[in-house]
Amino acid sequence: MRDRIQEALKHSKADYTEIRIEEKETTRVAFRGKDLELANANIDKGGIVRCLIKNKGWGVATFNNLDDLLNKVDQAYQCAQVVSVPEPIELVPVEPINQVTTVTMERDFRDVSLAEKKALAERYNEVMRGHSDKIIDTQSFYADTFTHLTLANSEGTYIEQEKPAVVLASLAIARDGDNVQQAHETMALPQGFEYVLDKDELARKAAQKAVELLDAKPVKAGQYPVVIDQMLAGVFIHEAFGHLSEADFVYENPQAREMMTLGRRFGKGILNVYDDGSIPNLRGTTLYDDEGIPGRRNWLIKDGVLVGRLHSRQTAAKMGEKATGNARAINYRFPPIVRMTSTAIDNGATSFEDMIKDIKLGIYACDAYGGQTQLENFSFSSGYAYMIRDGKIAEMVKDVILAGNLFTTLENIDAIGNDFKWDNAGGGCGKGNQYPLPVTCGSPHIRIQNVVIGGE
Ligand SMILES: [Zn+2]
Repeated sequence: MRDRIQEALKHSKADYTEIRIEEKETTRVAFRGKDLELANANIDKGGIVRCLIKNKGWGVATFNNLDDLLNKVDQAYQCAQVVSVPEPIELVPVEPINQVTTVTMERDFRDVSLAEKKALAERYNEVMRGHSDKIIDTQSFYADTFTHLTLANSEGTYIEQEKPAVVLASLAIARDGDNVQQAHETMALPQGFEYVLDKDELARKAAQKAVELLDAKPVKAGQYPVVIDQMLAGVFIHEAFGHLSEADFVYENPQAREMMTLGRRFGKGILNVYDDGSIPNLRGTTLYDDEGIPGRRNWLIKDGVLVGRLHSRQTAAKMGEKATGNARAINYRFPPIVRMTSTAIDNGATSFEDMIKDIKLGIYACDAYGGQTQLENFSFSSGYAYMIRDGKIAEMVKDVILAGNLFTTLENIDAIGNDFKWDNAGGGCGKGNQYPLPVTCGSPHIRIQNVVIGGE
């Protein structure tokens, strides 16, 4: 295979040519209510050629049959010839990489029978169903994928990577009369089957939260000091800030370019934010991105000041900055675009107790349940939340929606916890039709003053 790829690259007449080949094996099992809804296994195999003619543009050809690589290179080249970009495209220079990596799993899920995977999903489903007679519906989901990726380009880079992933998700719906509530728990890691065993607690937590929410009163709308947990803080920094750091967006959007000026103050000196693809064993781990650039730690906010952004080779060249290892594609059907990897608010110094002890009336919001961002404005729903009364966590409340302006909110972060955690949730990030891309969010608890909370 390697020889054929290299022959095809040599054959190309483009200024730059890149071939990415992907083989992905997936197994999925899902229960809904008491029934098995889905159990399947499939293999997806294909590749993509990208050709760049600098003063014309990019041409792309995707394929499933690996036998006619030479033809596909020609096809991509012809596509590049018919486009015309307003200014020549440059790629920031990088060192070619030659690397073949393999992974070992303690228990390789490819050797586990579908029957055993089904039994596991069924067990977690029964944990939810048996939790309370108020649970009226459930979904229990198991998936694993093993991806073998080969990337080679005309500059001499040749990389083979293996990426395993296991995913668990539990969704519970509880009902009391007209009152219907739901809660979910998910887990996803680039690990073997051993990681999804003995996770009854995950299913139990989903069922318990759904039942607890039946008794929660809607929150009273208003402005509160809010403490948000690691999970919600991580999603907040990814959604409300991280996407604005993606250089393709910054470059193409004049308003964003003005907003995201390096050196601009974004928060108090305690605020530090980074994206880091090099941290092992996270869903967002990107040892090499889909242009062959090694993942690394990229500081985005340092001591409250905007210091960096995320790049592909093309956006780095355009903006006179360095490649950051953030060109990622969801699969071989797409060219890479600028994406996050593992994004986090760095650990701080305040304990959770100290963070809440001076709050007379506030809100402790946990877990994210979707949200929207529109340039500098955002709104997020928390999965569940509690009132904080006289420095203590009090009753559970529901329908907590945090809304605000990114800059004001970042400026209002006045305490950062010392209890950093990566969330290993499933799901993923969406951008430009490419969803769900595996990413990880992380944060300690944080406290934000004057947050507008929607509700009753
Ligand atoms: Zn995202």
